[in-house]
Amino acid sequence: MKKRIYYTKPSITEREVELATDAARNGWGDRCYEYINRFEEMFRDYTGAKYAIATSSCTGALHMGMAALDIGPGDEVILADTNWIATAAPITYLGAKPVFVDILPDTWCIDPEKIEEVITTKTKAIIAVHLYGNLCEMDRLLEIGKKYGITVIEDSAEALGSYWQGKHTGTIGKFGTFSFHGTKTMTTGEGGMFITNDENLYEKVLTLSNHGRSRAQKKQFWPDMIGYKYKMSNIQAAIGCAQLERIDELVSRKREIFHLYKKELGNIDCIHMNPQKEGTINSYWMPTVVFDKETGVTREELLMMFSQENIDARVFFWPLSAMEMFESMTNNKNSWDIPGRAINIPAYHELTKPEVERVVGILNTVLKKPVIK
Ligand SMILES: *Cc1c(COP(=O)(O)O)cnc(C)c1O
Repeated sequence: MKKRIYYTKPSITEREVELATDAARNGWGDRCYEYINRFEEMFRDYTGAKYAIATSSCTGALHMGMAALDIGPGDEVILADTNWIATAAPITYLGAKPVFVDILPDTWCIDPEKIEEVITTKTKAIIAVHLYGNLCEMDRLLEIGKKYGITVIEDSAEALGSYWQGKHTGTIGKFGTFSFHGTKTMTTGEGGMFITNDENLYEKVLTLSNHGRSRAQKKQFWPDMIGYKYKMSNIQAAIGCAQLERIDELVSRKREIFHLYKKELGNIDCIHMNPQKEGTINSYWMPTVVFDKETGVTREELLMMFSQENIDARVFFWPLSAMEMFESMTNNKNSWDIPGRAINIPAYHELTKPEVERVVGILNTVLKKPVIK
């Protein structure tokens, strides 16, 4: 059996081990928030955000951010049908309703033209999810938000290191959230971040994140409201600090790997990969290949071929509206159609050129197979 190629794997050096060990050994008592504070500061520096709050997950960061915007029962929040459940779930935690909109055929992010059709008096927010590192059309989303008085939020879990017109993702809308799950560009094991430039929103989320205890409250153990418990531990933050010291290296390796694939596959007309549109920098979290319909290539065939070669392949996100708990939205044509002829391909820090070539080899073999009609 050929050596296994994983679709993703964190890059952990002696530095991460060193800081995590220090946190485990010394990061208690007076020093129990040291790495958390440092991690938040480094994250502000990297993204250019004014405020940052480390959390236990991106899901938690989204939950608190939307709670702070007073999103609740009866409200609606618009997002792309093509998504991981983590973006939609917190909407439902608050008793609000996720409204799924189709994606663009090239960036696979929310189609701005489809948003206005579903806006109602109940619409409170639009969540821009920068899928696989690709950028949403932020100018259009902000314009729509302004026109209807709706808040634009950025779920940037997949877009650390991606920029839109010189601004880091997550700093363009009202607030941004990130994930440091082991599959993401940088990791803390599990973890997330909430960022914003809005001081009031920051204070509100800070209070919510501390079981509703305001910074101004002098009384001990006296919450001013019901909050949440979505904090990051000091040990996780220590790993995060080491990863952020290496962030340029982590992001540039993602871009290098994408370009290795692109060099081999880029001039095949019937294959489409993550785009990098003018005015944007794509951090290519997850290189993705979408085959034209005419090729007859299917997800099932791709999964089978990859598994035969001992390579992980990951399905393109299913439309959320196809799932049991949501209303089916088959009109979202691209969201329903693209996953059937697409695949995410491996990209992790230590992936080698010969390994990239093995992956490319499979894609070429699949393409050359006669179409069975
Ligand atoms: C990974 C991911 C999340 C969830 O992150 P957690 O840290 O696991 O909560 C949310 N949104 C998107 C778009 C993601 O890719």
